[in-house]
Amino acid sequence: MPPIKTSTDSLTGLFPAEIAERIEAPLMRGRQLFQWLHKKRVFDIDAMTDMSKTDRARIGERHFLTALTPALRQESRKTGAQKALFELADGETIESVLLAQGSRITLCLSSQAGCALGCTFCATGQAGFRRDLSPAEITEQALRLLEGVEYSADSTPNIVYMGMGEPFHNYDAVMKSIHLLMHIEGLHIGARKITVSTAGDVAGILHFAEEPWQVRLSVSLHAADDDLRSRLVPLNRRYPLRELHDALKHYQEKRNRQITIEWVLMDDVNDSPAQAKALVTYLKGLDAAVNLIPWNAVPSLPYLPSPIHKRERFMEILGKAGIKATLRKERGDDIEAACGQLRNIRQD
Ligand code: SAH
Ligand code: SF4
Repeated sequence: MPPIKTSTDSLTGLFPAEIAERIEAPLMRGRQLFQWLHKKRVFDIDAMTDMSKTDRARIGERHFLTALTPALRQESRKTGAQKALFELADGETIESVLLAQGSRITLCLSSQAGCALGCTFCATGQAGFRRDLSPAEITEQALRLLEGVEYSADSTPNIVYMGMGEPFHNYDAVMKSIHLLMHIEGLHIGARKITVSTAGDVAGILHFAEEPWQVRLSVSLHAADDDLRSRLVPLNRRYPLRELHDALKHYQEKRNRQITIEWVLMDDVNDSPAQAKALVTYLKGLDAAVNLIPWNAVPSLPYLPSPIHKRERFMEILGKAGIKATLRKERGDDIEAACGQLRNIRQD
């Protein structure tokens, strides 16, 4: 069978009513198609047997159902994490990850092909920016990762926007994808199971504070002094720590939600007791939980993962200061699948 043709603007990025409008059919038909794509995760029009052959032929000829062509899927023997590489209609490629811990599934989605922010420890950032992803290209990653995956109602997957790209630099497409993933006739993911991760884009955080939902926010901080943070996350030069703090405070006043702080621990870079104490000071006045993540080695980059005793020491200082912190283990590192360490492997 020849590969199914894809388009950046495919039906997987549309709500039921938009599908109906696109295919010039009644709403009922739009809902049917939406359910095939989102609920059953079936992408082949010929398998959609509750539509007449004529209808299927007409829709299949004139419209693009999907945006992604699965190109590669790797499973980590150690952790069960799966990394998927997808090809886009214009030949760009993106990656997504499915992490499974017991019955808990987490999907890590990309929001852009590449990233323009150039964080110095991040493989995606070092590879540069290609383009924004469309709502279809973002949403379909989740649908494809869950193709053939069964889960019970009490274990609906978590979604994290922690793949390639800065979600707030592609704001509208990311927001639409969230609405599509929450749709009651589709995956129906609860808002609280979705997390958007930002490198600290203040404009995006302020915008996000106005969204009337319970979708979570995570901030990749990595340093609590401006000198170091500006070196690790160049966006800090535009939005320094004080301004970021004010935006997070505003977000919490508006949404009343705990935020997550991501801190990727690199040996002798940001894992000292003094830096842990600086983080404690920075978090004053914020309701935040900290995720400590060992840096996943990227061979060409001049960092080393923080050794376990330093990670534990860092964690202890946070704990003693009454800050909720978790020390994450590497996940899927044997296939380079760890979320946040994604890059276009075909460009290697
Ligand atoms: N651009 C957004 C979301 C994508 S990056 C952001 O920066 O938050 C997702 C997470 O992966 C971020 O917390 C980022 O700091 C982290 N990350 C990037 N490279 C990593 C690496 N090599 N090892 C571990 N985490 C990494
Ligand atoms: Fe972009 Fe996030 Fe990587 Fe920074 S860490 S370069 S913001 S993807």
